[in-house]
Amino acid sequence: MPEADNVKVCVRVRPLNEKEKREGNQKVVSVDKLNGNISVRNPNASADEPPKNFSFDHVFGDDSKQLDIYNLIARPILEAVLEGYNGTVFAYGQTGTGKTFTMEGVRDKPELRGIIPNSFAHVFGHIAKQEGDIKFLVRVSYLEIYNEEVIDLLGKNQDQHLEVKERPDIGVYVKDLSSVVCHNADDMERIMNVGNRNRSVGATQMNERSSRSHAIFSITIECSDRGPDGAQRLRAGKLHLVDLAGSERQSKTGATGIRLKEATKINLSLSTLGNVISALVDGKSTHIPYRNSKLTRLLQDSLGGNSKTVMVANVGPADYNYDESISTLRYATRAKSIKNHAHINEDPKDALMRQYEKELAELKKQLGEAGALEDDDGDDDDEDVEEYVDESGKKVRRKKATISPEKMDEIQAKIKEELRKVAAIKNIEEAERNKIARKLEKRLDELKKAQEEQRLISEKIEAFERKIIVGGENLLEKAEEQAKLLEDSERQLEKQREKQKQMKQKLDEKEEEKLQLEEKYANLNEEAQSKTKKLKKLKTMILQAQSEVTDIKTEHQRAMEGLLEIVREMSKELKLNMAIIDSYIPSDFQEIIEENVIWNEELGEWQLKCIAYTGNNMRKPKEKEIDKSTYRVVDFNHVYLSYTAEGAEKAMKDFQRAKSAKDKKKKGAKNKS
Ligand code: ADP
Ligand code: MG
Repeated sequence: MPEADNVKVCVRVRPLNEKEKREGNQKVVSVDKLNGNISVRNPNASADEPPKNFSFDHVFGDDSKQLDIYNLIARPILEAVLEGYNGTVFAYGQTGTGKTFTMEGVRDKPELRGIIPNSFAHVFGHIAKQEGDIKFLVRVSYLEIYNEEVIDLLGKNQDQHLEVKERPDIGVYVKDLSSVVCHNADDMERIMNVGNRNRSVGATQMNERSSRSHAIFSITIECSDRGPDGAQRLRAGKLHLVDLAGSERQSKTGATGIRLKEATKINLSLSTLGNVISALVDGKSTHIPYRNSKLTRLLQDSLGGNSKTVMVANVGPADYNYDESISTLRYATRAKSIKNHAHINEDPKDALMRQYEKELAELKKQLGEAGALEDDDGDDDDEDVEEYVDESGKKVRRKKATISPEKMDEIQAKIKEELRKVAAIKNIEEAERNKIARKLEKRLDELKKAQEEQRLISEKIEAFERKIIVGGENLLEKAEEQAKLLEDSERQLEKQREKQKQMKQKLDEKEEEKLQLEEKYANLNEEAQSKTKKLKKLKTMILQAQSEVTDIKTEHQRAMEGLLEIVREMSKELKLNMAIIDSYIPSDFQEIIEENVIWNEELGEWQLKCIAYTGNNMRKPKEKEIDKSTYRVVDFNHVYLSYTAEGAEKAMKDFQRAKSAKDKKKKGAKNKS
C-alpha cells in the first residue's frame, strides 16, 4: 500500500465587492497567512463572544494573487501528475465567493488567470523542457453534472445524458465522453472555451446554472520514456479540476415542480460528498457511500483513493455571509482528515499511446504496400531499396516504403513519352496501336491511384504523429508568456517564503524571550495577574465552546431539514409510482414481479426475469421474438402490461411455472434444514 497522504485544504477569502462596500457591509473574516489561521466574528453575537478560529494548510486573504494560489496549491499537484500520479483540485463554497474565479479566472488578463489555464502553460512548459527519448500524449475532457445527469461539454449534443460505468481493469468511467488530444497550450485553451460556451447554452441564466451544476475539467497525460534500467515504460497521470455547485442551502420556499426536483438532486450530489467525507474521517464506517451520487462516483479516487488532492474552500468576507462561511469552514475542516493513497500509474490499461503507436505502425506498413507499385523496370535499383533493423536485431532489405514525388514524375514522364512514341509509329495496325496505348494509359491511371492512396495514408500518419508530442518541442506559442509569468512568480514566492520563515523564526524567538522574562520576574503579584489572565482565557474558551454548540445545533437542524426535504420529495415520487403501478398492474402480477425482480448493481437498474409479453406492443409476439431470459424493464413508469388474450394466458402459465418452481425450491430448502 502506498504511503497515506492527507487531503490538503486551503481557504481563500475574496475581497468585499463594490456593492457590499456601497451598502456598508462589515468584514467579519480575518486571516493570519503566516500560521494558516482564519477567524470569523459573528456579527449578531454579543460583544464578549470571541471569534471562531480555524486552521488550514494555507489561507489566502483578500489580497491574494492568482499566481501565488497556483504556485502554492496547484503546482505540487501538477508536478505529481506529470510524474504519473492522479491529482484533483476542488473548489468548494457558497455561490459568489470565487470558485470560478479561482479555477478559471479572467481569461484575457495574464495575471488574473486561474488554476485551469495556468496548468496548461505549466504542462506544456514542462514538456518543452524535456530532453532525450521521451514522448507525451495529452488529452482533455470536460463534463458537467446537472440534476444528477452527466453532460459532455465537448460533445455535439448537450441534451444527451451520458452513463457512468465501471470496469474492473480501468475503474469508473463515463461512456462515450469526448476526449480531445491537445498539442499545445493554445489548443487546450480553445477547447476549454468551447466547453464553457456549451455550458451556458440552454441555461436561461448562466449564473443560475453554474451555481447548480458541478463542472469537471480533466487532463490525462501519458508519458513514454526509458526507465533507469533502459526499458521502455509508460505512465499516465490524470488531473481533475473541479468547480463544484454552490454549497449554500437551496431555499425551501417557492421551489416547486421541476425546480424542487432540481434542488433535491443538487442537494443529493453535494450532501453525498459531505457524507462521503464524514464516513471517510470518522474511522468507524465500513461503507463509504460513493455510489449514492454521480459526483462522488466519478471522484471516488480523489477522496480516500489513488490521488493527490487539494480542496480550496472559498468564503465571502461580509457579515451577511457569516452562516455560510462558518458552514464552509467546518466542511473544509473535516476534509483535512481524509487520507489518500496515491501511487504512480504504471502501464495503465486504458493508455491511448500504445494504441496509437500500434495504429501508426499499421499505417506505415500500408504505406509500404501502397508504394510497392514500382516503375516495373525490373531492376531493384539501390535507390528503391532501404535497409533497416527489425525487432530481433536482424538486418533486413526491403523496397522503400514510398515512391518519392520526383520518382513519380519521372515514371509519369516516361509513360507519356512512350504514349507519344506509340502514336508516332506509322507501320503498325490501328488495333495494335490502341492496345498498347490503352495498356500505357492503364498504367498511368494505376500510378495516379497509388499516388492518391499514398497521399491519404501519409496524411493519416501525419495526423497520428501530431497527436504524440516529443519532449523538447516548443509547445507554448502564445502561452509562453504565461509560463514565464508562472516561473517568475514561483521564484519570487520562494524568496518570500524564505523571508517569511525568517520572520516566523524571529517571532518565535521573541515569544520565547518573553516567556523567559516572565518566568524570571515572577512574583506573587505577577502570579495573580497571570491567574486572572488564565481565568479570562478559560472564560473565552467556555464562550467559544458555547457558541460552537449553538452553531452545531443550527447546522444539524439545517442538515435535518435538508434531508427531510429529500425524504418528502422521494415519498411523493414513490406514491406517484405506486399509484401508477396499482392502476395498471393487477395485484397478482405485482407479487410475481416483486419476486422476480433483481437489482443489477453494475447497470444501476432493476431487471425483471421471465417476462415475455410486456411493453407497449399490442401485437402478439412471434415465438422467436420472445426472449424470456433477458427481457429488461428499465423504468416501472413506462411498463404497461398490455396482453393479447393468448399472450396473457401464456404469460400467466409462464409465471405460475416460475412461481411453483420457486416454491418447490423453497420447500426443498426447508425440508433439508
Ligand atoms: P462562484 O464561482 O463561487 O460563484 P465567482 O468566481 O463567479 O464565484 O466570483 C463572483 C465574483 O467575485 C466575480 O465577479 C469574481 O470576479 C469576483 N471575485 C471572486 N474572487 C475574487 C478575488 N479573489 N479577487 C477579486 N475578485 C474576485
Ligand atoms: Mg461559479
